[in-house]
Amino acid sequence: MVNIALFGPPGAGKGTQSEFLIEKYKLFYISTGDLLRKELANKTPLGLQAQSIIASGGLVSDEIIVQIMERTIGENSQVNGFLFDGFPRTYIQAYILEGLMIKQNTSLTCLIDLQISEEVSVKRLLKRGKTSGRSDDNEAVIRNRLKEYSEKTLPVLQFYEDKGVHFEVDASASIEAVSKSVEEIVQHELSKKLLNIVLFGYPGSGRRSQGRALAKKYGLETVTTGSMLEQEIAKGSAIGEKIKEFYESGQLMTDEIVVPLIEQKLESSKDVRGFIFKGFPRTLVQSYILDGLLKKRGTQISRVIEIEVPTLELIRRLDERSKTEKCMPYDTSTAKIVKRLQEHEQKTAPVIDKYNQLHGVTKIDGMGSFDEVFQRLSAEVEDGFKRNG
Ligand code: AMP
Repeated sequence: MVNIALFGPPGAGKGTQSEFLIEKYKLFYISTGDLLRKELANKTPLGLQAQSIIASGGLVSDEIIVQIMERTIGENSQVNGFLFDGFPRTYIQAYILEGLMIKQNTSLTCLIDLQISEEVSVKRLLKRGKTSGRSDDNEAVIRNRLKEYSEKTLPVLQFYEDKGVHFEVDASASIEAVSKSVEEIVQHELSKKLLNIVLFGYPGSGRRSQGRALAKKYGLETVTTGSMLEQEIAKGSAIGEKIKEFYESGQLMTDEIVVPLIEQKLESSKDVRGFIFKGFPRTLVQSYILDGLLKKRGTQISRVIEIEVPTLELIRRLDERSKTEKCMPYDTSTAKIVKRLQEHEQKTAPVIDKYNQLHGVTKIDGMGSFDEVFQRLSAEVEDGFKRNG
């Protein structure tokens, strides 16, 4: 889930900035002010209780806010994420929000602090008052709202600073400039929440086709060294020629060739929910390189999965493939197939061991139909997204 809170004094542009965020990230918008005004219009007991406080520009009690929020979030728990406008406004409400997010197995992605001076705030609200029809958009009430903001709401920032999810934006700039800054912050925070899966399995275990299908279903990007290398061969580049020689001798590619290709791929993949690494890392050295590449982007490996298929079945599948047009240069003879399986065993087993110690490796039974294996893998990915919050 993506959960964003827009923070700032009245008139900072929270409502305005909400529009593009809702659209871009498919968020469910919650403005406590709007919810209270609705309660008031419907003359509900909560609305009637809040009426005089709103009229004077004071803050409605946390007691009322928690009831409205719990109900609204509870009724909309299946959404992609929430956008909070005007909440949390007190330190207690920050705790309330945290509890509500935990209940949804998620957390606040970021709190964006739209900063404007008191004078800009008053000017904007007086202008808005001419058309908004809001009785609290008049100077005396505005001044009180600003007083409440600096006394009760500003201290909330400390809560989020301590959590490292508080970001400031100069909101006196143009709407477009503010939107751009807001979007950059959200993108950066989201990149930390990428779901990065390392998919292991022997040649012939179905890693490639399963990885592709998972990526398509869940908006992930596959990082498949095999495909990247084949693309280079197809281009007929100098690197491509070198790769071809390696392939024909059944050896693993050198890191000098593979790593820059991976880095390029990570850099050029925008708007993805995560990556599926297949065929990389294949050695211990590569596993350290991958850790570094991900760390550079503020993210890390979320899950390591190994598709298990018995050796005889692997040989059978690869031999069968060699008789079709899907035949790879490295499975043209049984000797090459066996050499490749042995090489995989020698180099990759220590990597799986390392991951087993660090993250734990989830073993998935690779026998059965494509759909059966796909279902097992999908359950893992969904669990990964849930835990990623
Ligand atoms: P807004 O539409 O966000 O400017 O809110 C209008 C009024 O509703 C405020 O001046 C408060 O009286 C009340 N209000 C809105 N959100 C909250 C909140 N989270 N906590 C307390 N009072 C709120």
